[in-house]
Amino acid sequence: MEELKAKILEKGSVVADGVLKVDSFLNHQIDTNLMINIGKEFAKKFKDANVTRILTLESSGIAPSFMAANELNVPLVFARKRKSLTMTDNLYTSSVYSFTKKETNEIAVSKNYLEKGERILIIDDFLANGQAALGLINIVEQAGAEVVGVGIVIEKSFQDGRAQLEQKGYRVESLARILSLENGTVTFL
Ligand code: 5GP
Repeated sequence: MEELKAKILEKGSVVADGVLKVDSFLNHQIDTNLMINIGKEFAKKFKDANVTRILTLESSGIAPSFMAANELNVPLVFARKRKSLTMTDNLYTSSVYSFTKKETNEIAVSKNYLEKGERILIIDDFLANGQAALGLINIVEQAGAEVVGVGIVIEKSFQDGRAQLEQKGYRVESLARILSLENGTVTFL
């Protein structure tokens, strides 16, 4: 997606260890026009997949998923990373090692918002080693639903997340694929 790639080049910065900082439009401040276009792009890619619900991960997955869910006319659910006092039981949970925080989080989705037989589209902001996506897939499987695809805003193709997901047979659609962040420079695939 050219608009996204241009924004990454204009506003992104490379921080140590192959991490791309995009706080000015995706991970802290949000560029709503860009998010609307990203959502429409996901909806276009998955329009024939008979998606019944979108599942993402709080907090940075929510903005790019919102318009996709609106366009596909399906509900959007986000897995929670922090335990909520109002969410005590009736949960699907999975452990996810965070690439950027270097810690393991328990993610959780209420059993009320994932049903057996559903066709779930997973969306996330970044794909690195695939841990977040695999945790979400695990939750969908616990519910007896099917993952029809994984939509990623920014894929770091020099890490093995895509391979992990494709080996298991999942369709991965990324809007920007980064080949390298070496020497502080973003190179797209
Ligand atoms: P994975 O689980 O695929 O290893 O990593 C994906 C998750 O880690 C995403 O949900 C995202 O929050 C975070 N992440 C991974 N790499 C980056 C990065 O380069 N920049 C930012 N901002 N987040 C990243």
